[in-house]
Amino acid sequence: MSRLALSDTDKQARDWFADTTKSLGCKVIVDAMGNQFAIREGLKEGPPTVAGSHLDTQPTGGRYDGILGVTAGIEMLRTLHNNSITTTFPVGVVNWTNEEGARFPISMVSSGVWAGSIPLSHAHDLKEVGTGSATMKSELERIGYLGDKDCSFEAVPLAAHFELHIEQGPILEAENRKVGIVQGVQAYKWFTVSVRGADCHTGTTSFSHRADALLVASKMIVYSHRAAARKGALASTGILTLKPGSTNTVPGSVDFSLDIRSPDNHIVSEVEADCKTAFAKIAAGEDVEGLNTDFVASSKSCSVDWKLDTDSPATKFHPECISCVEDAAKSIFGGETQALTKPMTSGAGHDSVYTSKRCPTTMIFVPSRDGVSHNPVEFTKPEDCAMGAQVLMQAVLRYDRKRAEGKV
Ligand SMILES: [Zn+2]
Repeated sequence: MSRLALSDTDKQARDWFADTTKSLGCKVIVDAMGNQFAIREGLKEGPPTVAGSHLDTQPTGGRYDGILGVTAGIEMLRTLHNNSITTTFPVGVVNWTNEEGARFPISMVSSGVWAGSIPLSHAHDLKEVGTGSATMKSELERIGYLGDKDCSFEAVPLAAHFELHIEQGPILEAENRKVGIVQGVQAYKWFTVSVRGADCHTGTTSFSHRADALLVASKMIVYSHRAAARKGALASTGILTLKPGSTNTVPGSVDFSLDIRSPDNHIVSEVEADCKTAFAKIAAGEDVEGLNTDFVASSKSCSVDWKLDTDSPATKFHPECISCVEDAAKSIFGGETQALTKPMTSGAGHDSVYTSKRCPTTMIFVPSRDGVSHNPVEFTKPEDCAMGAQVLMQAVLRYDRKRAEGKV
């Protein structure tokens, strides 16, 4: 699936979303970020309890990431419609714009604007990646989805947000479980680490006279793995930029990304602090935990500098929403609930991170084959999708009942 946000194919999917949900008796609100809210009336007025996710994908994405949460929400609307069921309060489905951040480079940008965490003008001015000159605002206008409603939790309040999503990891499949009951989203910090040494000739400069920025950066990356592993956290480098980039020149300049994650904020901080201390020593040429074994000591050293790019603290989902998901799972799995479900922490960010700042929120995971996502081979069995949809609808209805009973 290649459906970049606000492209022509995204417009087609949006039109389908609007037509389908209208045919199921919903009214559809479009806000200034193009977020679509399909709302089905209840017996009483009030903000809707919604199922939400996203219809945009990565450039070479799969057919489930985000899409499952929206289509399962529509299936919920269809089931309510076909069975003439009226909920106490309104319920609905949300399609959040540009969750992936693949075309306009901030992920979850439109739920972020809705939550008041990202300024609307900043989001509107985002330029598409690559050589094009389109902005989010110009593309929203072009495809007719620059809505007249303010994009904010005040203009379009939600009572609660439930997001069904594929796990995008291997755990549920490996443990033969059907549903992940998501407790929250892990904390992460993204850094750019810059190492500066000196360019020199690979043939004429002995090891003892080099300030090899890449060799030093390599030790740092190895160290970050050890530091994270000790704490049960994750550390990853996905971008490595070196200069000048020539076979016979030792690189004097290296920048690399460092992504540190854990369910606990303080563990992320501990790994960060550990790495900061160690990286300074590594840059100075000191031996840290045997990383210099069999290396030739050099009279020259490197400098290291850190820049914080993103700080996303851990998200804890709402206990009442989680209990609705647990109860839904129990009613479906009965005595097998323990064996077939698992409390989990999401490793990836989702729109639910932002909605949880403004309304009770939780997520439901279903298994991903081989844990693969953001790839055309992404796959979840139809029966697992159906199971997730059952849990999603039940959780939304249970939350609506709790509201009716004044329990939330
Ligand atoms: Zn997603």
